[in-house]
Amino acid sequence: MDFKERLQQPVQYLKGVGPQRAPLLYKLELYRAFDLLFNFPRDYQDFSDRRKVDQLEEKKLQSIVGTIEQWETRTTRRGPMTTLDLKVDDSFVRGMWFKMPYIQSGFAQGRKVLLSGKPKLDPPFWVFMHPQISYLNEYEDEEELEQILPVYPLTEGLKQYHLRRIIREQLEELPDHLEDVLPDDFRCKYELLPIAEAVRQIHFPTDQAMIPLARRRFIFQELYLLQLAITIRRLQHQTRMKASPIALDPKIDIHIRQRFPYELTGAQKRVIREITGDMNKPIPMNRLLQGDVGSGKTFVAVYAMLLAVAEGYQAVFMAPTEVLAKQHLRNLERMLEGSNVRIAPIFGGQTPRERAGHLQEILTGNAQIIVGTQAIISGNIPFHKLGLVVIDEQHKFGVKQRARLKTGTAFDPHYLIMTATPIPRSVTMSLFGDLDVSIIDEFPPGRQKVRTRIARDENRDAWWEFVREKLKEGRQGFVVVPLVEDSDNFDAKSLVEAYESLKAGPLAGFRLGYVHGKMSHDEKERVMFDFRSGEIQMLVATTVIEVGVDIPNATLLTIESGERFGLAQLHQLRGRIGRGKHPGYCVVFAKMESEETQKRLGAFASTTDGFELAEVDFEIRGPGELFGTAQHGLPPFRIANLTRDRDVLLEAKAAAAETLRDDPGLAQPQHAKLRTQVLRRYGDALELGDVG
Ligand code: ADP
Ligand code: MG
Repeated sequence: MDFKERLQQPVQYLKGVGPQRAPLLYKLELYRAFDLLFNFPRDYQDFSDRRKVDQLEEKKLQSIVGTIEQWETRTTRRGPMTTLDLKVDDSFVRGMWFKMPYIQSGFAQGRKVLLSGKPKLDPPFWVFMHPQISYLNEYEDEEELEQILPVYPLTEGLKQYHLRRIIREQLEELPDHLEDVLPDDFRCKYELLPIAEAVRQIHFPTDQAMIPLARRRFIFQELYLLQLAITIRRLQHQTRMKASPIALDPKIDIHIRQRFPYELTGAQKRVIREITGDMNKPIPMNRLLQGDVGSGKTFVAVYAMLLAVAEGYQAVFMAPTEVLAKQHLRNLERMLEGSNVRIAPIFGGQTPRERAGHLQEILTGNAQIIVGTQAIISGNIPFHKLGLVVIDEQHKFGVKQRARLKTGTAFDPHYLIMTATPIPRSVTMSLFGDLDVSIIDEFPPGRQKVRTRIARDENRDAWWEFVREKLKEGRQGFVVVPLVEDSDNFDAKSLVEAYESLKAGPLAGFRLGYVHGKMSHDEKERVMFDFRSGEIQMLVATTVIEVGVDIPNATLLTIESGERFGLAQLHQLRGRIGRGKHPGYCVVFAKMESEETQKRLGAFASTTDGFELAEVDFEIRGPGELFGTAQHGLPPFRIANLTRDRDVLLEAKAAAAETLRDDPGLAQPQHAKLRTQVLRRYGDALELGDVG
């Protein structure tokens, strides 16, 4: 069997596995010898510093072997405390664990154990607080314990030492036959271990210093491959896609601005320059416009659309929900009153006749602006001459999620994607690396502050008292209740209950309404209309109101069960208030049980800066749903982590740019393996086609 085959060998036939253990490995998605090599440890146990009692030192990680003499678990005021006395040669050391009474389940007199931790001399004993404990008779090879050992994710029935032995066996010869995708001089330049050494060291490091070195090799490689793929995609986009340049004429600029009720902010003007600069190129714009809720992205989009229209093109404005799309429709109609620009709405619930009428208008070019929901993508719309697509409040930015529309011309449209979800920089750089980014970092003048408080049940009376006062002054507000809207067993009951109990209780006598995602479109529209007109004073809602809804008179926001909302979502919700001339008040009722909740809500109350909150969220939860690789249709990282590995990301990005500067198609022989890997890993997801 050659080594290629050996790498591919099913785990069942490997030493130490067999038919019984193989299914356990399958559960860990380990099928072939190769998988074992790249099944990286989640942690390490460092038992390498073995000491005798008289060699122990304070504040250093050390291990000691002894036999169990006696133990007890006492109840203290702060919880159960377990003490274990170990006989080591002629003296004793002590291990102590607080609030871990179950630790003693493995204790037995005379049992040989190894304690590992940082001991403290508490005369007459050396005491290890919360040491790691290992029972030596479980290890066939006690010598192993003199090394740094890998800790792998396990599954029921598989022991750590089994998996270690299986993997160790494969590390003997196989790594020497792995192909290194990184050329030698490249590795030297970026201080990356050769593949064989990296594989061996990441499993069984010879000392602590090797762990970060071995990890670095793989983290770098992973981020480098992604950067190569994304940069290639970007280059392909620039060379293969063609758009019609749409030039900005100063007269048109004046005309467009006349339609706006306000002077544009400095930030709006700047991003408009960036956008019109892109639109004037023969390659399609691919720009992400980020701006916090209320920063005025809509005007920017409208500006770009009116420019396209003035130059004879059609423009699409697409929103994630009907509520939002209708709001845009109303705004546009108001702004374009008296002009000869015509708008065709495209929504899900239209009758075939209505739809046909609009399609006719679009096909002939009579309608220049098309506003609607996702229905625009699925609707196979026959555009006359599509030049610009604006996608509002996009949360899924995946390359594949981006709309593919037939423009009616030989050219691709320009794309402007807008989001109020602040995206951490490391994510924009990597996962959205094929987009250009514009940021609106300034609010329109006169924006009101929103004061936020995290409250407990005993504060309720005072809060509702305050709310009643504000409602009497003419303000409006929202009460947001968490619900899982996309589950089948959706149950509007709790929302309606909340509504009923407010109506019968603290807000009796006021005009209340409710809205949730499962209501019919017409019902929702009616409720939103009544709220906008002031007919409804307090709207009890699920997160359907989260996105984009713009009602300047709404200043009061009550969030129930705040612990169940993510930081980004809370921030979006808060963006619904304080949009007019009155200050906003946000109160979050929450169970502050977990540390994470405290951190999250603490941050929420302390700042209204969306970018700051995004970074906190990113730190607490990692990339999460919104910014995970899966969201982008990309394979998951094995080891890289965008939160933790930002520095490596920067290096990898620069390295990828340099590699492709010299060899844009990865066509040179020393890049052959790299090219294969990039295509294998990202070719489909990023639609790279044939590189080169
Ligand atoms: P978002 O970025 O959240 O989509 P919008 O575009 O909905 O924000 O704008 C929020 C509010 O600010 C709207 O009521 C809008 O009319 C107002 N606005 C936008 N730009 C300006 C401006 N330059 N001056 C004053 N008000 C503005
Ligand atoms: Mg908006």
